[in-house]
Parts: sequence; structure tokens; C-alpha cells
Amino acid sequence: MTMFYFDNNATTRVLPQVLEAMRPWFCEQYGNPSSSHPLGQYAKQALMTARSAVAAFLQASPAEIVFTSGATESNHMAILGALAANPEKRRVVTSTVEHASTRRLLSHLATQGVEVVEVAVTHSGKLDLAALSAAITPGTALVTLMHANNETGVLFPIAEAAAIAHANGALFHTDAAQSAGKIELDVQQLGCDLLSFSGHKLHAPKGVGVLYVRKGVALEPLIYGHQERNRRGGTENLPGIVGLDVACRLAQRNLSDKAARVACLRDQLEQGVLRLIPFARVNGGAPRLPNTTSLCFTGCSGEELLHRLGQAGIMASQGSACTAGGTEPSHVLLAMGLSRDDALSSLRFSLSEETAAADIDIVLKTLVAIIRPMSGLPIAA
Ligand code: PMP
Repeated sequence: MTMFYFDNNATTRVLPQVLEAMRPWFCEQYGNPSSSHPLGQYAKQALMTARSAVAAFLQASPAEIVFTSGATESNHMAILGALAANPEKRRVVTSTVEHASTRRLLSHLATQGVEVVEVAVTHSGKLDLAALSAAITPGTALVTLMHANNETGVLFPIAEAAAIAHANGALFHTDAAQSAGKIELDVQQLGCDLLSFSGHKLHAPKGVGVLYVRKGVALEPLIYGHQERNRRGGTENLPGIVGLDVACRLAQRNLSDKAARVACLRDQLEQGVLRLIPFARVNGGAPRLPNTTSLCFTGCSGEELLHRLGQAGIMASQGSACTAGGTEPSHVLLAMGLSRDDALSSLRFSLSEETAAADIDIVLKTLVAIIRPMSGLPIAA
């Protein structure tokens, strides 16, 4: 079966150049970067090279890069580290649409006496900056907001939010798991103290990620040990880190041209859906990531649609957590004011630079063929 992959916000294909670069670091150059013999020193050199490449990718300096296992760990390190380093401050401000890795940690911390305040979003997924400003008090240790939403692609105004946090003496963290590799990331422009991302969202392997820690920001480690300048213990995942190095360099190459091409394909898909299926709607408004669209097919079961698309080789996503007892509606779409039914009728398509123009037509034709018998509503031929 030919596969049409439209789930790049879940994970991406490891690029062949990335895999090739990683290969020697398993069986040939397998030294521990902390060992003083030559094999260890080769590994240390590769680690330094990767740190510089990742720093350049973010417009940061190498000493500000901490390698982790991924965005989940980076988010934990940022939140727990900021709270532990500022024990007199017990408040964290966030939004209603964050990723589960942030939400679940914060719900746990709320049971431990941390005051967690969630700022609402509008119907189009935008952050209410006035509400954010009102939520940040002098007792706020950290403001944590995602850069781009994983379900809708909606971008938050990180620079403005960071300025508000700083004006109130709070640290600012952004979860850039979805924006890294899709749009330009510049920690100076974003003004953040801390930034997380994961390699596997930008064609590097799973299990490697980054926490950017601005120079001078004190964080208590999550994992103790001498590695990463005492900030993250554990022998470094060198093959993964080398893969991330190459993936960041490749992502940066012609980034704006690639983003414009992907946005054009995404818009073709979206406009095609809106033209052919008049009751369909787009969830979330501009500014958005170039590669993401969340579409609501009112009256159709998203679960069923996803299943039928999968049978036709099209991999998309519902953008919601499946539980043993059935599918729960997406908390992101509910927070944007969609009804439970509309949230359950929504699908996410996430493209990448590898998406072929011809695939858009295939998705459109398949969607129409699936939806026509499922819905009593008018659909173009
Ligand atoms: N944050 C966001 C916005 C994400 O989309 C993801 C991955 N779905 C994560 C954090 C967690 O990344 P990982 O699973 O690689 O740790």
C-alpha cells in the first residue's frame, strides 16, 4: 500500500543524511565523551560540534544548550528546575492549550501546593495577553507557554508574553517542540529564558532533545550528574545528538523557502476541503505554523474518518488522546470553544518538506469519497 504521511506533528521520518551521520557513532566511534582516551575524545569533539550547531540553530551560544531525551524532559526540567531554584515563589502561569507533558506535570504540582493559573484562548486559539498580564503576580516563578500549538499550529506571541513575564519578575519558558524546524527560531527575538524542543519533530531520531537555558538563569537539575555542566546527568546519547546536529543544519537550510512551499500545499489542502465539503471548517486562525491544519467535519465521526483514511494509506491524526473507554475530545479544541461533538469531528493534517504536491489531490479525493456516504450534507462532485 502506498503511504501518504500527514502526521508530521506526531513525528517525522529520519532523513537519510541524518541516519548516515549517526551510523559511525554506534559501532565504531562508540566512546564515552567523558573518557580521556582518544575514542572518548572523538566523542567529546562530536558533542562540542553538535552543541555549536544547535546553538546556531537557535541563535544561542553553545554553553546555553543542554541535551535531553526530548521535549517532555526539557519541559519538566524547565518547570521543576525554575520552581526549585526559586522556592519563595509558588505560582506558575500557563495556558489552557498546552501539551500533555506540561499539563500533566502542572496538574500534579497543583496537588503539591503549587498555584497553577491557566490563561484562556479565544475561539481562533489566540492567547489573551491582557488575561496573561493579569495572571502574573510577583509570586510567579515561571510563565510557560507553547510557541506553536501541536493540534492547530496557532502561534502564541512569545516575545510579548516574555516581556510581560519579565516585567513582573518571572522566568519565561516556551515549548517550541512544534515550531523547531518549521519556522525560524531565535531565542534573542523570542526573549525567552528557557526553550524546549525534540529532535524527532525535525527529522532527527526519537529520544534526543534540547533545553536552551539563557546564560545567568539558575535552574536546579532534574537529573543529577556531572554531564552537561552539572545541569543534566547521564552519559550523552551521542548518536542521537549527532543526528540532531545534522537535522538542525538541514532544517535551517532555505528554511523560509521550504516553509513557503509547505504553506502553499497546506493552503491547497485546506481550500480544497472548504470548497468540496462546504460544512467543513478550519479550527484556529493566523498566525499559524505553515504545515498544520485542523479541520472540523461537523456530523462525521473523526475516529471513523481517521480509520477509513488509514485504510486508504493516508496517515492523519485526531489530535486527541484515545483512552480505553473511547476517544476523548481534544482539550485544545474544547478550550477554543468547540462543542464536544465538533471536537470529536475534527482531524489534523500536518505536512512536511517531504510532502508531495500530488498527495494533496489524493487526500482531497479520498476525503470526499469517504465523507459523501457518511454525511447527509451537500458535497461537491
Ligand atoms: N510539546 C509539544 C507541543 C509536542 O507536540 C510534543 C510532542 N507531541 C511534546 C512537547 C513532547 O515531545 P516528546 O514526546 O518528544 O518528549
